[in-house]
Amino acid sequence: MCEIKFHIKLPMFVARQWIRHRTANVNEYSARYSILDKEFYIPTDEHLAAQSKINNQGRGDVLKGEEAKQALELLKRDALQCYDTYQTLLNEDAEGNILDENKNGLARELARMNLPVNFYTQWYWKIDLSNLMHFVSLRADHHSQYEIRAYADVILGIMEKWVPYAYDAFMAYRKTGAHFSGKGVEVIKQMLKGEKPTQETSGMTKREWEELMATLNLNKA
Ligand SMILES: Cc1cc2nc3c(=O)[nH]c(=O)nc-3n(C[C@H](O)[C@H](O)[C@H](O)COP(=O)(O)OP(=O)(O)OC[C@H]3O[C@@H](n4cnc5c(N)ncnc54)[C@H](O)[C@@H]3O)c2cc1C
Repeated sequence: MCEIKFHIKLPMFVARQWIRHRTANVNEYSARYSILDKEFYIPTDEHLAAQSKINNQGRGDVLKGEEAKQALELLKRDALQCYDTYQTLLNEDAEGNILDENKNGLARELARMNLPVNFYTQWYWKIDLSNLMHFVSLRADHHSQYEIRAYADVILGIMEKWVPYAYDAFMAYRKTGAHFSGKGVEVIKQMLKGEKPTQETSGMTKREWEELMATLNLNKA
């Protein structure tokens, strides 16, 4: 029965992941109606990472030195350049001042299309507790991209203050609990009998095996 409404400011690429959670009510700031702020996301140094070599949907080592510097410069340059173009197309600045009296300016709904997805949007997001727990289970998880996980971690803190008993149960049974596949359960049973199952005998893929071992704290994933 519990519901909560958040006012969230988030980069568009995060919003695109977030909106996949269909069990919420959403009311997004309209970039047809209003001019978007000159605000964009740039990762901090420790989050500026290379593509993971083992997981196509993940990050590897943090970029260093010249490469990191160049990546940051390019991200900032493009964002600033695109925002300048946006204002030129609109013929308006963020305060609504006309830049050139002799021009009409392109409609807001069209001018926005050149902005990169690291620009921020905003929305109101209303969701019930059960579906919020589902969101947090998926997004406050290490499989999730850092940029959305950062929001999910904050939401976890809000849940703790809002519904402390439900939060404790959630942490005990879902967040710090574990889910095993049928093959995983077989491996655990064999281990408990003193047998020595391997990835080959388990019929699991390398990644499934490594995730199981990591969950059981038996190696590093
Ligand atoms: C780590 C990670 C990686 C991801 N990678 C990708 C990717 O590569 N590509 C991609 O497209 N998406 C990806 N996603 C998004 C993912 O596929 C889901 O869309 C997202 O996590 C929302 O989950 P959900 O559908 O369970 O949530 P919600 O939409 O909030 O739904 C919650 C639950 O409600 C029920 N439900 C909701 N709507 C319906 C319906 N219409 N009919 C029946 N039941 C319904 C289901 O039981 C569902 O689980 C990824 C998500 C995560 C966390």
